[in-house]
Amino acid sequence: MAYMKDSGNGVRGSVTRTGAVATAGEAANVNEVTDNSQPLLEIKNLHVHYGQVHALKGIDLEVRAGEIVTLLGANGAGKSTTIMAIMGLLKPTSGSIMFAGESITGMEAHAISRKGIGLSPEGRRVLGSLTVRENLLLGGYARKDRKAVDHDLERWLSVFPRLGDRVQQMAWTLSGGEQQMLAIARALMGKPRLLLLDEPSLGMAPLIIESMRETIRAISEQEQMTVLLVEQNVDLALRLATRGYVLALGQIVYSGLRSELRNSEAVQTAYLGEASQS
Ligand code: ATP
Repeated sequence: MAYMKDSGNGVRGSVTRTGAVATAGEAANVNEVTDNSQPLLEIKNLHVHYGQVHALKGIDLEVRAGEIVTLLGANGAGKSTTIMAIMGLLKPTSGSIMFAGESITGMEAHAISRKGIGLSPEGRRVLGSLTVRENLLLGGYARKDRKAVDHDLERWLSVFPRLGDRVQQMAWTLSGGEQQMLAIARALMGKPRLLLLDEPSLGMAPLIIESMRETIRAISEQEQMTVLLVEQNVDLALRLATRGYVLALGQIVYSGLRSELRNSEAVQTAYLGEASQS
């Protein structure tokens, strides 16, 4: 059965030590979010270079279990670089990335995904010549619990009913929005503890974005999924995330609760900066 629409966008709840806001709908997560233990993901003083280009200049970022945290920033700020470094697709020059209390800095991507980090990459990147079902099975290929994989396949097909209707279709025949859903569902098939979503709204029509927002919210609440959401669509990001970080030119220039980010000069500057370039 598809997830129901969420009941609203308002945040009511307690602000925790970490700055996360626990909503009524996230009651089951409150203990985790307010837990004083290690964050699920903890990045410290991370530097990444592409040759001479110093793309990340010492960023610090953390995500606690049960949170949706957003990473905002204009084109070229370093958002995808951060995601790729977390996934092991880029080797950091220095700094550390801890996941569930263990260093994953410099680990190979396949080992990191086995640790429980799933990625829905920018630009969707589904395998067009495979069917929807095959793409999803690929997302669960590293799992040993084969029975549970089959069960999850059915579950995600029901959560994303448009995929359920097109399960034998080649992925290239899907619309952009459907391919985005497939990329997210494929990441979920790996049964991640942390889901990285890189620009899920890119190129999507407003109605598709709205439906995707509801689905991401429902997955986070009902599956207690921890999410790091990279977005240029500030409105979408701040309707989903309880707090976030703003990246500009490879540095975190601001971090705060959703309400603080909405009015933050750093957010406005980052995006006005982008607008003035275009
Ligand atoms: P976008 O929203 O446009 O994807 P972003 O915030 O994800 O932007 P990144 O793609 O992480 O930004 O890029 C950060 C910086 O690194 C930019 O200055 C970019 O030009 C540079 N960069 C990214 N990829 C490469 C590469 N393969 N070689 C050299 N420089 C790169």
